[in-house]
Amino acid sequence: MTQAQTRTLLCELAASLFARGFSVGSAGNISVRLPDGYLMTPTNASLGRLDPDRLSKLDGDFRPISGDKPSKEVFLHRAFYRARPEAGAVVHLHSTQATAVSCLPDVDHTNPIPPLTPYFVMRVGRRMPIVPYYRPGDAAMEPAVYQAALDARAILLANHGPVVSGKTLTDAVYAAEELEEAAKLFLMLRGSAPRLLTPSQVDDLLATFG
Ligand SMILES: [Zn+2]
Repeated sequence: MTQAQTRTLLCELAASLFARGFSVGSAGNISVRLPDGYLMTPTNASLGRLDPDRLSKLDGDFRPISGDKPSKEVFLHRAFYRARPEAGAVVHLHSTQATAVSCLPDVDHTNPIPPLTPYFVMRVGRRMPIVPYYRPGDAAMEPAVYQAALDARAILLANHGPVVSGKTLTDAVYAAEELEEAAKLFLMLRGSAPRLLTPSQVDDLLATFG
């Protein structure tokens, strides 16, 4: 895929997420790894109305090269790319249901959403921890996200929202969508005792699709 095609795809997927309510206002940001750096959504930009030619282009050390000024949350993306060499894209949203789960004090913060469906396991993996709350922009958030991302493809920032990686841009967006659906199921099923996938069923999924 050429860089021009990647820019167009990023804007199309972002607009689709926005149209379906996965982000509101100027919330949410998306990045893609390129052979010579990264593309990143600009600061204060709505995911619904991105211009492919104005996306921020960053070098391999995340320094802006061209385009509009990058999102203030660029460090979340940097932490993921540094922790996960296979990551080709990172999506950060403030999507409602996943954010709701991130606000619950009485869930397992090492892995709040149990394996309810195979699709969540296939897209998001075995575990997705909640990283403790930090004020937006707090420099201490980056090392915390880096540590959590070392063994998780996706995380929830407490009282904030999900950060999801994928091998490709499409993979990362699909994983963010699947995470939101899993969070919705989890919230619907709270107080009941659903049948979960067994550990061997999870192992089988990850061995086959992981
Ligand atoms: Zn955010």
